[in-house]
Amino acid sequence: MPDGMRFETLAIHAGQDPDPTTGAAVVPIYQTSTYVQQAVGKHKGFEYSRTDNPTRHALETCLGALEGAGHAVAFGSGMAAITSLAMTLEAGARVLIPDDVYGGTYRLFSKVMSRLGLRFDPVDMTDLAAVEATCQEGADMLVLETPTNPMLKILDLGALAEVGRRSGALVVVDNTFATPYVQRPLDFGVDAVVYSATKYLGGHSDLVAGSVATSDDQLAERLRFLQNSVGAILGPFDSWLLLRGLKTLAVRMRAHCGGAHRVALWLADQPGVTAVHYPGLESFAGHGVAAKQMTASGAPLYGGMVSFELEDEQRALAVCESTRLFFLGESLGGVESLIEHPGKMTHASLEGSGMEVSSALVRLSVGIEHPDDLIGDLDQALS
Ligand SMILES: *Cc1c(COP(=O)(O)O)cnc(C)c1O
Repeated sequence: MPDGMRFETLAIHAGQDPDPTTGAAVVPIYQTSTYVQQAVGKHKGFEYSRTDNPTRHALETCLGALEGAGHAVAFGSGMAAITSLAMTLEAGARVLIPDDVYGGTYRLFSKVMSRLGLRFDPVDMTDLAAVEATCQEGADMLVLETPTNPMLKILDLGALAEVGRRSGALVVVDNTFATPYVQRPLDFGVDAVVYSATKYLGGHSDLVAGSVATSDDQLAERLRFLQNSVGAILGPFDSWLLLRGLKTLAVRMRAHCGGAHRVALWLADQPGVTAVHYPGLESFAGHGVAAKQMTASGAPLYGGMVSFELEDEQRALAVCESTRLFFLGESLGGVESLIEHPGKMTHASLEGSGMEVSSALVRLSVGIEHPDDLIGDLDQALS
C-alpha cells in the first residue's frame, strides 16, 4: 500500500489486496480454525485462528491505517477491547475514568476489575485542574471519552495527553462516538485508541466487535499477547462484516454528522425542549475544543449523536415511545436512527453511583435517513 493515501482510499484498499490464490476482489472469510503446515513448524504465517486469521488480519491492517497507527488489534466486542487494555495493568494500578463514562465501562471497573485489584476513580475530565490534582496522587491509566455518552461533553485531547504524560500514565481514548474519520486521538499525543466497532465502524447494526489501535510497539505486543492468551477474539465472519462496513465509513459519517447537526438545530427551537446537547451548537460548552479536534479534511464535523432534555421523565418516556422512524433501542451508530432513555436503558447501571443521568434526558443516534423525514418524525412525537 503506497504511503500518503487518504482516508476514503485506505478504507477500501488497506489490507485488502486481491486474494493471491484466486484473485477475489474482496477479502474472503477464512472460516477455519487451523492451517496445514508443510513441515513441522513450517507454515504460511498462520497456525491457529485464535492467534491469527487472514480475514481478521486484513481488518486489523485496515483499522491501523485508518487510525494512522502502527498497530490495531481486533476483539470480540468493545468491552473485550477495554478489558484487554485494563489487563495490561498490574494489580494495585489506578485508572481514572470520566464521570459520565459509558455505563459498561463503569460496570467493568466497579464490578469486575476492582475485584482483581485495579483501583479506579471517576473524575470530571472537563476540569483539567481536577485531573491534574488526581494524577498527582498517582495514576497509571487515563481512559477518556469524547464526546462523552450521553451528555456529549468534549474533552481536550491535547491537554489531557499532556497531563497523562507528565504523570507517567498511559492515556487511552474511547473514540467510539467520533470514529477515526472525525477524530484521530493519536495526532494529539494520546497513547491508544479503543472502539466499540459495533457502532459506527460496523455501521449497520449487524455485528458486535471492538478494537484497540496504538503506535506504541510495546503496548501493541502486550495487547497481541492478551488477545491470544485471553482469547476475546473477533471471528472471521464478523471481521469480514466489519471490513465491509469500514469501506463506507467516511460517506456514512458525513451523512450522520450533517443529519445530527440539522436535528440539533431544530430541537433547539422547540418550546418543550429545555436543553440540547450537541457539540456543533455554538452555545455548547465544548464547541470551541470540538471545532479544533473533530475535523475531516480540515473542516469541523460534530458527530451523529444528539441528546436533549424535556420537562420531566414522563415526557421523555412518552417521546421515546412515540417516534416511528427513530427505533426505540440501545446502541448507536447504525444507518437507522435510534432513540432511547439513558436513565432507564443504557445508563441504568449507574443507579446508586452518584453519577446518574437526568431522567428527563433523551438520546438520539441520528441515522442516514433524510434529515427532513427525521425532523418530521420528532415533530409528531413531541406534539
Ligand atoms: C457500546 C460502547 C462500548 C461497549 O462496546 P460493545 O461493543 O457493546 O462491547 C464502549 N464504549 C462506548 C462509548 C460505547 O458506546
